Amino acid sequence: MPQANKIKVKTPIVEMDGDEMTRIMWKMVKEKLLLPYLDMPLVYYDLQVKHRDETDDQVTVEAAKAILRYGVGVKCATITPNKERVAEYHLKKAWRSPNATIRGILDGTVFRKPIMVKNIRPLVSSWKRPIVIGRHAYGDIYNNTEYRVDTPGKAELVFTLPSGKELFRQTIREFDKTGVVQCVFNEEESIRNFAKSCFTFAFDEKIDLWFSAKDTISKTYDGLFRDIFAEEYERNWKEKFQAVGITYTYNLIDDAVARIIKSEGGILWALQNYDGDVMSDMVASASGGLAMMTSVLVSPDGCYEFEAAHGTVQKHYYKHLAGEETSTNSMALIFAWSGCLRKRGELDQTPEVCHFASTLEAAALETVESGIMTGDLIAVADHHPENRKVSTEAFIDAVALNLKKRL
Ligand code: NAP
Ligand code: MG
Repeated sequence: MPQANKIKVKTPIVEMDGDEMTRIMWKMVKEKLLLPYLDMPLVYYDLQVKHRDETDDQVTVEAAKAILRYGVGVKCATITPNKERVAEYHLKKAWRSPNATIRGILDGTVFRKPIMVKNIRPLVSSWKRPIVIGRHAYGDIYNNTEYRVDTPGKAELVFTLPSGKELFRQTIREFDKTGVVQCVFNEEESIRNFAKSCFTFAFDEKIDLWFSAKDTISKTYDGLFRDIFAEEYERNWKEKFQAVGITYTYNLIDDAVARIIKSEGGILWALQNYDGDVMSDMVASASGGLAMMTSVLVSPDGCYEFEAAHGTVQKHYYKHLAGEETSTNSMALIFAWSGCLRKRGELDQTPEVCHFASTLEAAALETVESGIMTGDLIAVADHHPENRKVSTEAFIDAVALNLKKRL
């Protein structure tokens, strides 16, 4: 398409390139699905592990700051180095997870939403629309303090003021035998930002919001979460929610689990850290697997970072390097781009960009629904004689063909 006829994206998009198989797919998706149609200013950061190492991880920090500046970014999966990766890539050290760094700077909440296609039915037959999980990825058992009690003694909870004055002391347990103790915390500001991000996301998507915890048992800890959500709703969202016909409900976690199984979906389910960790894996596996999960980080002040929920698909990359044909699914990666373009179009008030995003999604869905899919989906899709397992590149080519027909 001549440059003059391309769809113009007004404000720059922050692009974060990544590692391994997802880096290969990233390039293909850009070249075959995006650049032929879009005149799009990109602010590019290369987050591949070697470049993070060369910049002492400053490139990740710069990328996160750029998202704060421009409002919308899209990220390819990246290696979180461990001991093996440090050796493999000759790194100076095992740098922090880029996602953790970016989340720390944006102070956001991650929302995971499955991509639904007609020929992959959710394992829970009542689910007609996606269930989105909003996980409060801060505190609780992930930053806990634990102690293995191997002698009789007393465990206490003590709170001391900066002056040194003791404000609170309570016995947790007098042990006459052995046992174990755990202490967790959270911060009011983090819980409030979590609530804000959840209300923002539910309102953006026009879906009901549930928040579930166990405040009947944990009256103070879970009670604070419940109160903050209720306050935030009353103060900032009640009228907006009513105007678009969506609701906010607090329910007990066990009651919510029983209800979600019988629901039709189309809900944002906001959960504390552990519940979100567990339930997001359940929803993913009931909905066609990790390669069909999209993920977006929403900051409390309304910045967005889109990505696929899966990692760099290391095993497929090694096959690719060995010259073997791969069949890696690019659906979530394509939807990361379409999600980012739609959000950019909404913020810029450029409906033609939003329309392109929806057309791209429709072309990708149509491809899978016509039976052309990668190996991971063949295994879970409805059996049909037309189903055909294709390579990584052939799948993207098939989407490109459908996209061309629609534009
Ligand atoms: P992974 O990349 O998500 O892959 C795990 C397995 O899931 C794959 O081996 C593959 O199964 C299947 N899979 C995932 N995505 C797929 C896709 N698009 N198409 C087809 N199959 C797919 O997780 P990992 O292997 O544990 O991690 C690899 C690297 O990714 C690690 O270095 C980790 O640090 C990084 N990681 C990054 C992010 C992120 O940036 N957001 C998230 C998670 C992990 P089969 O092998 O059975 O085909
Ligand atoms: Mg998990």
